[in-house]
Amino acid sequence: MALTHDPAGGDTLAIGVDVGGTKVVAGLVDVSGAVLTQVRRDTPGRTTEASVVEEVIVDAVSETRAAAARDHPGRLVLGVGLGAAGFVSADRRTVVFAPHLAWRDEPIRDRLAQRLGLPVVLDNDANAAAWAEYRFGAGRGEPRLLLVTLGTGIGGALVLDGRVERGRHGLAGEFGHMQVVPDGERCECGNRGCWEQYSSGRAMQREAREMLEQDSPYAAGLAGYCGGDPAKVEGHHVTQAARHGDVAALELIGDVGRWLGVGLANLVAALDPGRIVVGGGVSEAGDLLLEPARDMFARRLTGRGHRPLAPIVAAELGPAAGMVGAADLLRTGSGPDSVSAGPADGEGDGLADGARTGQ
Ligand SMILES: [Zn+2]
Repeated sequence: MALTHDPAGGDTLAIGVDVGGTKVVAGLVDVSGAVLTQVRRDTPGRTTEASVVEEVIVDAVSETRAAAARDHPGRLVLGVGLGAAGFVSADRRTVVFAPHLAWRDEPIRDRLAQRLGLPVVLDNDANAAAWAEYRFGAGRGEPRLLLVTLGTGIGGALVLDGRVERGRHGLAGEFGHMQVVPDGERCECGNRGCWEQYSSGRAMQREAREMLEQDSPYAAGLAGYCGGDPAKVEGHHVTQAARHGDVAALELIGDVGRWLGVGLANLVAALDPGRIVVGGGVSEAGDLLLEPARDMFARRLTGRGHRPLAPIVAAELGPAAGMVGAADLLRTGSGPDSVSAGPADGEGDGLADGARTGQ
């Protein structure tokens, strides 16, 4: 990932913003995907007015631009890529619905472009993360790439022929809500038995809590990591305990991994990607999660024995993926067939093509 200084703009910078359920992170990203500066703010909750979220983003971007002007004078800031945790409209101007924010049909792209005086591109946060892994991370060189992120729930995205596949209405990649258990656990989406109810941080937490609430001697080791209080147990406690060889914790992560393998076998049956990248907080468990996933995947995949098994690998970019990907989507427009040709796509908003820093 060497820095380039080619005359075609290798010296330019882009600002990536990841608007998640708990925090807004903005960063200054160069052409190689390196993050030069980043700032973070808490995300206002969904009971807060929509305009407050916009203020937080404008504030984070302003601070990032100021850092660019101070630390990298003379380098062109091309614009802002925004990755948002929510449904983004097919024309990528509007966040239609964001479960963790007050945004409902929020025309955030144009509003931010006007306020910032910079080109802005908008995408779903999982699309941005998949793009980052494809360009700079564990998906490099694989133009048919599946990304699945295991956080509180499951996020996902697909890169097809070297561009993000967004679906007809911008809503592709909601893999977490595929039903894997008829009449199973109730999901936030209103349905029952969704994949993310079995393979996510929330699933691991629920199972750990249940084990602790039963006061099972089997869970004695795990109890030590959360002060013995079932209400306080979190996914990272389970990961920590498993790393120290706790049998119950290993079993809990193994279950999440096996359910991961089941869902991936379904996705691969439909999509036949060349590689699967697994990211999100739960993936920090590494092979404790991925080995059971690979085993179950190999047992459930249709045509097994007569087809290559797509490698299941850990994401490389960590929590920065959404921000890095959003910045690069601004720079590249997501590949040759993108509906948006990039920052200056001539849609008549009269914006300057970026802003030279330090002027
Ligand atoms: Zn669901």
